[in-house]
Amino acid sequence: MKNIFNANKLKNLQVLTVSAYIVAVISLPILQFSWSMFALTMFMYFLIFGFGVSMTFHRSITHKALTMHPVLEMIGKFFASIGGTGSPISWVLIHKAHHKYSDTDKDPHSAKDILKYLIGKYPTVSPKGMRKLAQSKFNKFMHRHYYLIILTYGAVWATLGFEYFCYGFIYPMVLTMVAGHLVNWYTHSDFPLNYRLHDIKDTSQNNVVIALLTWGEGFHNTHHRYAGRANFGMRWWELDMTFVFAQLLKKLKLVRWS
Ligand SMILES: [Zn+2]
Ligand SMILES: [Zn+2]
Repeated sequence: MKNIFNANKLKNLQVLTVSAYIVAVISLPILQFSWSMFALTMFMYFLIFGFGVSMTFHRSITHKALTMHPVLEMIGKFFASIGGTGSPISWVLIHKAHHKYSDTDKDPHSAKDILKYLIGKYPTVSPKGMRKLAQSKFNKFMHRHYYLIILTYGAVWATLGFEYFCYGFIYPMVLTMVAGHLVNWYTHSDFPLNYRLHDIKDTSQNNVVIALLTWGEGFHNTHHRYAGRANFGMRWWELDMTFVFAQLLKKLKLVRWS
């Protein structure tokens, strides 16, 4: 038990993060563009960030805004972890602390620390919180074998060739890394096209463009105001793609919310 909690083993993901960026930068000019490969990247990006990070890590296990079928939740946790921004344990704890301490010195998602997160340097999380989340054997497994799981998953893509390795594994991972930090930086700053629907204490903002790029996560001001709300969009023109997908899963009785 002690082993997985000492020293916050997923604090430093720089090797993984920077390696993914390097492979992306080197491979992009070499590989021939094709729409089918682009579609593969977008599909995997949705699976990892939309379904994985946004629906499973964020809305389901962190905020309990919706409840997923246990098997579906496990699949979601797997894909979210593949995105390279932490395990179900570390991601959830860092994000919970962000809501608790938004825009203060204790904020682990602070917009001013964006460069640190972009290169995979994350804050320390509480051992107490870790123990609680590690009551789930699957969470514990994903946390303990984080690197091995990602490397094995990447190796499976590599067996299909370098093109599939990049379009199916590296690019969706890089997009996921950038997307999460983009939300935490851009929508907590006073930047163009940001707006607020709710006058709350923190600096959170909504942004339609960021929301389109991040499967709905860009409606961040609404999310900070109503963290338990499954739909991050509130106005008719605020399209939350993760919620659209959640509605489909609700029809199939795989997801529910009140
Ligand atoms: Zn949140
Ligand atoms: Zn925030």
